[in-house]
Amino acid sequence: MTETKLETLIAALKNPTEEDKALITKAYNFALEAHKGQKRFSGEPYFTHCFCVAMNLAEFRMETKVIAAGLLHDTLEDTPITSKEFEAQFGKEILFLVEGVTKLGKLKYHGEQRHVESLRKLFIATTRDIRVLIIKLADRLHNVSTLEFVPPEKRKRIALETLEIYAPLAYRLGMGVIRHQLEELSFPYAYPEEYKKVTELLKEREDELEKRLEKFYRNLKKEIAQAGYKAFRTSNRMKGKYSLYKKLLEKKMDMAKIYDVMAIRVIVPTVADCYGVLGVVHANWRPLPGRIKDYIAFPKPNGYQSLHTTVFTGDGGIIEVQIRTEKMHQEAEYGIASHLGYKEGITQNKASIEDLGKKYAWFKQLVELQKDVSQTGEFLNQLKVDFFENRVFVFTPKGDVIDLPEAPSAIDFAYAIHSEIGNHISGARVNGKYVGIDTILHNGDIVEIETKKSVSPTRKWLESARTTLAKRHIRMILQEKNLPPKV
Ligand code: MN
Repeated sequence: MTETKLETLIAALKNPTEEDKALITKAYNFALEAHKGQKRFSGEPYFTHCFCVAMNLAEFRMETKVIAAGLLHDTLEDTPITSKEFEAQFGKEILFLVEGVTKLGKLKYHGEQRHVESLRKLFIATTRDIRVLIIKLADRLHNVSTLEFVPPEKRKRIALETLEIYAPLAYRLGMGVIRHQLEELSFPYAYPEEYKKVTELLKEREDELEKRLEKFYRNLKKEIAQAGYKAFRTSNRMKGKYSLYKKLLEKKMDMAKIYDVMAIRVIVPTVADCYGVLGVVHANWRPLPGRIKDYIAFPKPNGYQSLHTTVFTGDGGIIEVQIRTEKMHQEAEYGIASHLGYKEGITQNKASIEDLGKKYAWFKQLVELQKDVSQTGEFLNQLKVDFFENRVFVFTPKGDVIDLPEAPSAIDFAYAIHSEIGNHISGARVNGKYVGIDTILHNGDIVEIETKKSVSPTRKWLESARTTLAKRHIRMILQEKNLPPKV
């Protein structure tokens, strides 16, 4: 039985080498052993979750290391395995990925709407490597697909967190399929009443919509073929219930005002074909003014490209047509992941946030915000969020995240950066304001340390230091100065 699962996973890899197979087999057996005896709420062995997360990552076409990290993603958090043991088995890179996922798991949404945007940003800031976020999305995708087994209180929190944090992140990463699945699986548990209402509204219109769609669909295919296009394919998509719900809220719950409940997709080989097919559509059906969108010439900030138009079907209905190339389609489904996976047999190991920022405007914006924090007071305010229970995340002016124990001082921060900076700290600027070096830091603070060669640790510093690292360095200097530290 277990062997079959391993085979399934290996079969899901794209052109695996012997090395790839060996790594997956090793990670598989390691995770299976590590989670032995643990169970999910569903009563299934915990390992089933690890397997499904790895399968999701294989479906996103991620490289083998990321899939291995998916198998192992809960071993540091939920089993006695230490980072050291882990690194000895799987090396630095996979450890880095799993530690990243573990860290992200500590950021939790507690239902404060005004903090949502900063929490999303903090996810990215904490992630450092986009692969970590993709593993987390694969993890969350499996968790929401098993929500029915989770106790009601926890279930609602997870569903809301998924809608507020994870689905929007998937959207911004351009991962349309994942966003759709996350939303559809969470919606019924996050807003049960609203879900029921939308389902009913949809049911009333379903037959009519489907009949009209079918007829239009047949005619459209005929017209495109008659215009000489051979290599095209079509599909239709139903709007997700959650995105329908959000649109209904904008339109005062009036279904008649929503034109894209159903849409038809036409996928063609080239960009020129896209515009050609748009011509065919407009030549045969009258478009609604103001609803023609050229996301090919002007992609959405998340990288999405397609032509959209909405036309009168001629029998009293309105329908949306989306036209794009195969490549655009792939990217619309898997977004950023489609840039990280396999490319012509070569695996791409790294994609820095800055590289991806070139394509994904939202990342670019974030990277810039982090670089130029001094001018973005609002961002600073948003980041002053108390989401963490035992750790405090503080930013350097460059946007690096420094992870400190509870109630750290500027002295702790300085030593966390470098012992020389710690040893000569003369002052600190927290969120642009000068403060004493004993000032307590809070989540999201942006801290700049000032140093002076003439400054060195005093006994008083020991009272403000929290980390053993800082205390050790201070004591060392005090001993050198021959000043016995107070005990
Ligand atoms: Mn997990």
